[in-house]
Order: sequence, then C-alpha cells, then structure tokens
Amino acid sequence: MYDCIVIGSGFAGAVVAERMASAGKSVLILEKRNHIGGNCYDIEDEHGILIHQYGPHIFHTNNEEVYNYLSEFTEWYNYSHEVVAYLDGTYVPVPFNINTLRIVYGNEKARNLEEKLICEYGFGSRVPILKLRENKDADIRAIADFVYENIFLKYTMKQWGQKPEDIDPAVTGRVPVLVSKDNRYFQDKYQGMPLNGYTQIFDKMLSHPNITVRLNEDARNVFEFKENEILFEGKAFDGEIIYTGALDELFQCQYGRLPYRTLKFDFTYFDEDSYQPRAVVNYTVSEDFTRITEFKKLTGQEIKGTTIMKEYPMAYTGEEDQIPYYAIMNEENAQMYDKYVNIVSKYNNFHLLGRLAEYKYYNIDGIVEKALSLVKELVK
Ligand code: FAD
Ligand code: UDP
Repeated sequence: MYDCIVIGSGFAGAVVAERMASAGKSVLILEKRNHIGGNCYDIEDEHGILIHQYGPHIFHTNNEEVYNYLSEFTEWYNYSHEVVAYLDGTYVPVPFNINTLRIVYGNEKARNLEEKLICEYGFGSRVPILKLRENKDADIRAIADFVYENIFLKYTMKQWGQKPEDIDPAVTGRVPVLVSKDNRYFQDKYQGMPLNGYTQIFDKMLSHPNITVRLNEDARNVFEFKENEILFEGKAFDGEIIYTGALDELFQCQYGRLPYRTLKFDFTYFDEDSYQPRAVVNYTVSEDFTRITEFKKLTGQEIKGTTIMKEYPMAYTGEEDQIPYYAIMNEENAQMYDKYVNIVSKYNNFHLLGRLAEYKYYNIDGIVEKALSLVKELVK
C-alpha cells in the first residue's frame, strides 16, 4: 500500500509527490491524461519545434524558495517576456506603459500626459485599468478610455464572454497600466524558460524511486466516498490523498457544473524563420482569437521553420475533448464551489490543491508555493 495518493501530475501534483517521496513516503500518482505535466506539458511537434500543447507558459516569480526549488530540476533560458498588441496595423507594448503612450499619442502630447501620470501615481507604479478609469482628471480619463477600448474590452469579451467591469477585478489587474518604460509583461525578480522544457522538469521530479505513476487513470473510477472513509479500489485508504482535479466533476456535478472557460488551440507550421515580432502578440481589437504564440521566440530554440498557435476561448461544457482552463471567479460560483468543499471537508486525509481543485487563478509559482507548504504540514 502507498502512504500517499496524488491525483494529477501538473505542478500541484508533481511537487507534492516529489516532496513526499523525498520525505520517505511511497507515492502513487493517478493521471487521467496519457502524459505527465498537466497544462505545462511541452513536446516537440513533427517539425522538431518545442511547443506548449496547452498554451504558452512563462515562468516568473518573486519567491526565492520556489525559484530555488525548481532550479533543482532545471537550468533556465534567460528570457524576459515582452508582449505586443496588434492595433490598426502597428504593434504596441502591453502592458500599456509610457512607451505605448508615446506611440499612441506622439512624443509631444505624450510628454504632458506622462507627467500627469507620474505626478498622480508615481514613476514605476502599476495601475489597474478599472482604477485608472475612476480618475477625475479629463486627460487621464482619456488615456484610461483609450486603454480600456483598445487593450481590454474586446480581448476580455473574447476571453471571458464578459466586459472587464463584470469580471473579478483581480483578473484585469494582472495586466495593469505601468507608469514606467518597462516593456516586460512581468516585473518579477526571476523569469525565464526551463532550458530543456517543462516536461523534463516533471520527468526529473517524478523519477524518484518512491513514486509510481499511473497514466490514463481517472480518479473517479477508483475512489468511493463513504460516510466515514474513502475507498481506493474497494479498500479503505487512510493515507494522504491530494486531489488536483476539478472538484465538481469528482461528484458528478451534483450541485451543478462549476463554470470554466476553455480554449481551442490552433497550431500552424510555416516554412519561414520568423512569423511575428514577439513570442506573443495579443489581438486586442480584431480577430476571434485572443493571441498568437510563436514558440521558438519563447524558448530560444534555434531551428529552421516556425510553429505558431492561436487561442480561441469559449465556455467549457464538460465534453470529453475539452479541458477546463480558467475558473470564473464570482460570488455565485464561489457558493457552488463551497458546497463541494463541504462534501470533502469531513475527510481529514483528503486535500484540495491546484488551479482546478481550489477553483482559483494560480500562476505556476503560486501553486508550487502552495504545494511546498502543504507538504511541510503533512510531514510535520
Ligand atoms: P494542471 O496543470 O491543470 O494539472 C492538473 C492535472 O490533474 C492534469 O494533468 C489533469 O489531467 C489531472 N486530472 C484532473 N482530474 C483528474 C482525475 N479525475 N483523475 C486523474 N487525473 C486528473 N502560469 C504561469 O506561471 N505562467 C504562464 O505563462 C501561464 N500561462 C498559462 C496559460 C494558459 C492557457 C493557462 C490555462 C494557464 C497558464 N498558467 C501560467 C497557469 C498554469 O498552467 C497553472 O498554474 C498550473 O498548470 C497549475 O498546475 P495544476 O497542477 O494546479 O493544474
Ligand atoms: N487582458 C486584456 N488585454 C490584454 C491582456 C490581458 O484585456 O492584452 C485582460 C484579459 O481579461 C485577461 C486578463 O487581462 O484575461 C489577464 O491577462 P493575462 O495575460 O494575465 O491572462 P493569461 O495569460 O492568464 O491568460
């Protein structure tokens, strides 16, 4: 028998498994896909180009412990993520910053506006678009309206099917207006790409002799939740169980389906060395897709030809071939989520962890941090 069963092999599951195994516990991982790594999985396509199968992933963090921990499993390609938005035939830096301001308004007009922004918020500050729109100054409001209309409104409608003011403010707050000339998408102390890809990190983490991985194994087929205990393959299991999948789906959506956004990814190969000016171009006013990623510009891979990917967001309906990517965080959905948490809260050995299981918008570093601290608790 195992000391611990982990459901899911994304960062949440892999970190827990590796830490538990290193603490001497025997660990079983159940993963319903045919590979490890969850949404951070990457693989070479038929042209030898390393692609991210489930959307572009750039590692960034201010958390030293997380950075040091992951650095045990990889070296880093020193990459600073810079995104541009395609606006009426030109490419402008996103997040909107002073460089963007100058492109949009021209140097002369931008100079006055720039001074106003610095005076109001301070150089280097990060102002969420919804906050900027509340400013009383007419010039600042005009900038806010421009940014709202040209960067946020249509992109957010595509991504979430809702206007920026109708979704959780923390979501648009991830990409604030920057009162600086920093064109980077993230300002974190550490950022980069794993030198040999993400999948290799997972391979290393899960190669620990105390870890057994079962692929193509859906937890729903092997667990039963009884009044006072959880059965694994028909027998009571009192070791730790860490679940990183969607909580509603574990209980047949009995209180209703938790709403998610999913994505359709459309990959195309070109026999050209370069497709676009940056690794990621956001389409903030036009097109049905939100962004195009050109992988070799993310990973630094030197190779002939290039593969790009378009992302088409849509509502998750639970169909077999869909994956729930983004929790839609609001009061109503939180209440439904809590009902599912109530079902499992009576089992002391059952733990919810990860972007799905916690119904939260986690970056990689956030989930690694959470996983590290959960294991510290469990092995205390
Ligand atoms: P996942 O990676 O989703 O892993 C969950 C695993 O559980 C999956 O492998 C799934 O198959 C498995 N599973 C689920 N249910 C079951 C079941 N019943 N039985 C067995 N197995 C099951 N973060 C960043 O820091 N930088 C980025 O640039 C970035 N870009 C992103 C882009 C996109 C499009 C998306 C969707 C997310 C992005 N993220 C990014 C967030 C990042 O993907 C997550 O933080 C991370 O994947 C969370 O890991 P996780 O283990 O919680 O979930
Ligand atoms: N956003 C936007 N325009 C952009 C970039 C982001 O409207 O050019 C909004 C959109 O609502 C998006 C949110 O900001 O969902 C967060 O963006 P982020 O790039 O962090 O999303 P992720 O990479 O997690 O999909």
